[in-house]
Amino acid sequence: MMIVIMEAQATMKEKSAVIARAEAQGFKIHLSDGKERTIIGIIGNERNLDKEQIERMPGVERVVPVLKPFKVASREFNPEDTVFPIGQHDVGGKDLIIMAGPCSVESRSQIIETAHAVKEAGAHILRGGAYKPRSSPYSFQGMGEEGLKYLAEAREETGLPVITEVMEPALVPLVAEYADILQIGARNMQNYALLHAVGKSQQPVLLKRGMSSLIEEWLMCAEYILSHGNTRVMLCERGIRTFEKYTRNTFDINAIAVAKQMTHLPVIADPSHGTGKWEYVAPVAKAAVAAGADGIIVEVHPHPDEALSDGLQSLKPEKFAKLVEDLKRLAESVDRSVP
Ligand code: PEP
Ligand code: MN
Repeated sequence: MMIVIMEAQATMKEKSAVIARAEAQGFKIHLSDGKERTIIGIIGNERNLDKEQIERMPGVERVVPVLKPFKVASREFNPEDTVFPIGQHDVGGKDLIIMAGPCSVESRSQIIETAHAVKEAGAHILRGGAYKPRSSPYSFQGMGEEGLKYLAEAREETGLPVITEVMEPALVPLVAEYADILQIGARNMQNYALLHAVGKSQQPVLLKRGMSSLIEEWLMCAEYILSHGNTRVMLCERGIRTFEKYTRNTFDINAIAVAKQMTHLPVIADPSHGTGKWEYVAPVAKAAVAAGADGIIVEVHPHPDEALSDGLQSLKPEKFAKLVEDLKRLAESVDRSVP
């Protein structure tokens, strides 16, 4: 892949001419029309592209190859942060986005009660799993479509957009009917059929990092989704496997800083799965924001002792409300704000 960086004053006509020239030579185009300047990504076998010819076209500043294995996801391709609205707020901009709710939707009353509680505490997006990837086939597998309906009802009542996991390509259209954001779970990060399906859906996606995945592998998976022209992709660090046993996973704070540097995509932190214990959720959430995360996703349950999944790492609504208050103060010190 090569990228054509247009001059700041390049006209529409000059941009169209570059696109037309590349398309005529059989290349696919990925356009990044930023506030500052336009970058035209030319995808295909570079050897067939006459770089100098394009460089001489009016309005072109320079033509550079993208050397990283991920292309559209890379900062070179799009130096400006990707920002897009979800409900009433922008993700990836100055505002920190807070997603909260139970690990699983367990009943109509549970999700509606929790939705009101997290909204009251300051959350912007409601989470809740209807299809659950459980380590054991004998554990609660989620409520399925019934759970999706309750999530939609909770959105009706509170106005909070909804994020929920989708586990198989065939279910993408159904889940997309109910959810505002499709979550790809850690266990499915490299499920390429699923990545293609959510890419084609053109719905906002939250891509969790696999528990034993390199950052580069994670970014390559984002590239799968982006390659379908679906630009509304968020990355989510949720902890990785290490030798440590006191916590369920080791939250990789480095990954936040690295992903923010390597890509233009919003990066969300999941301190709930990242630690596995509610006591550590608030401190790690704060660390992630300090490291540059664009938001957090946190498990909250009104009665964690009775939760059908992930009770040990779920915050009670009061504790979650305290975290949101703390984040409001912390946000200022990193030039962010909690809307
Ligand atoms: C979840 O969000 O409840 C979940 C299953 O997360 P992960 O895929 O990160 O384990
Ligand atoms: Mn969970």
